[in-house]
Amino acid sequence: MTDYGTVQNVIVVGAGIWGASLALRLAESGRRVTLVERLAGADPRRASAGETRLVRSAHGTSEFYARMAWQATRDWLALNERVGEEIFLPQGVMWFGREPDGWEVRSAEVLKDLDIPCTLLDPAEAAMFYPEMRHDDLATVLYEPEAGVVRARRATEVTTGLARDAGVTLITGTAVPDGRNVLVDGEILTGDQVVWACGAWLPGLFEGLPIEVTRQDTTHFAAGWTGVPAFCDYSSSAYGHGDIGGHGMKITSDVEGEPGFDPESPRDGILASSERRARDYLARRFPSLAGTPLGLTQVCQYAVTPDAEWVITEIEEGVWVLGGDSGHGFKHAPALATYLTSVLAGETAVDPRFGLHSRDSVRGLRTSGET
Ligand SMILES: Cc1cc2nc3c(=O)[nH]c(=O)nc-3n(C[C@H](O)[C@H](O)[C@H](O)COP(=O)(O)OP(=O)(O)OC[C@H]3O[C@@H](n4cnc5c(N)ncnc54)[C@H](O)[C@@H]3O)c2cc1C
Repeated sequence: MTDYGTVQNVIVVGAGIWGASLALRLAESGRRVTLVERLAGADPRRASAGETRLVRSAHGTSEFYARMAWQATRDWLALNERVGEEIFLPQGVMWFGREPDGWEVRSAEVLKDLDIPCTLLDPAEAAMFYPEMRHDDLATVLYEPEAGVVRARRATEVTTGLARDAGVTLITGTAVPDGRNVLVDGEILTGDQVVWACGAWLPGLFEGLPIEVTRQDTTHFAAGWTGVPAFCDYSSSAYGHGDIGGHGMKITSDVEGEPGFDPESPRDGILASSERRARDYLARRFPSLAGTPLGLTQVCQYAVTPDAEWVITEIEEGVWVLGGDSGHGFKHAPALATYLTSVLAGETAVDPRFGLHSRDSVRGLRTSGET
């Protein structure tokens, strides 16, 4: 165990997958940890309460995220082993590429350099993985055979349970920042370090963060394709996977909704435009499923930064903000927690990319933003 000197007690606010994973790693590294959360596990306002999230290493030219995602992929497999449950389904991920030298090919170069399993397939060959898929608009397909899908809500629940087992004190309540103190329903908690991992609620807690909140609707269609690789269509900003858990085939647009979404908003059904956009894609890529009825739908939000890089910053001594996941944070959580544990211990300097500097508006780590 590391000798942390005087920095022993850490308060983590927010038990989404980022906060819960961090609390677990900190406790396992010998810290005393308090984890504060205001909402129940399955509450749909929590981004980590979504049914499923994709796990993939391709991140264009970014080695940082590719490396972290690959570490996390192995961490998810280790979690399966540890709890004896298939929380992560390594069914592979296909990236449908329209250009012969586009984002997918640049990603493949990085993955190959990092020895992360991947292969570029001829579109006709890729199409054989699905019962039926239209591929005449594709030039190449990047296949990550060891990527897959994580059952997100369940993973968050299990990680929080492991954190509790590792000695983390869980407190239910709404936290308010007060310097190094955390006020929870009238009680004052004081830590040597405090980490605010509050997802879409961060802009309401701290001024000046480069984070906007956008509404995101998720659509599943009542089709029974199981065991097929998940897929991302970077150029069309769409992604999905086959049926997992009887919820139907996920086909969802990754286009960001209007900013200004209030994460407290009631979740009373998806927008007609979201269904239309998903159906358009379904009809284009998997035409035989065009008329399939809707299955599970969910309304959630992204906490996006202009450049899709996260926010990890010490806003005053001992007080950290962790957020701005930009819709691509779930997969990284266990590896990010290891990185942060080292940052909080003063062993690793936080990468400047995560700071409060002004950021250019660029998409690319998750989606092209085009349809
Ligand atoms: C539709 C959709 C699809 C996505 N797809 C993918 C994907 O395929 N792959 C991927 O890697 N990522 C994906 N993501 C992103 C991923 O879900 C998020 O990166 C991840 O869930 C963020 O976790 P978090 O812990 O930061 O936030 P959250 O899960 O929102 O957790 C924040 C927590 O803080 C709590 N909180 C807030 N304020 C307070 C307070 N004052 N006091 C106490 N508690 C508080 C909240 O209740 C909440 O539980 C997707 C997101 C969405 C919405």
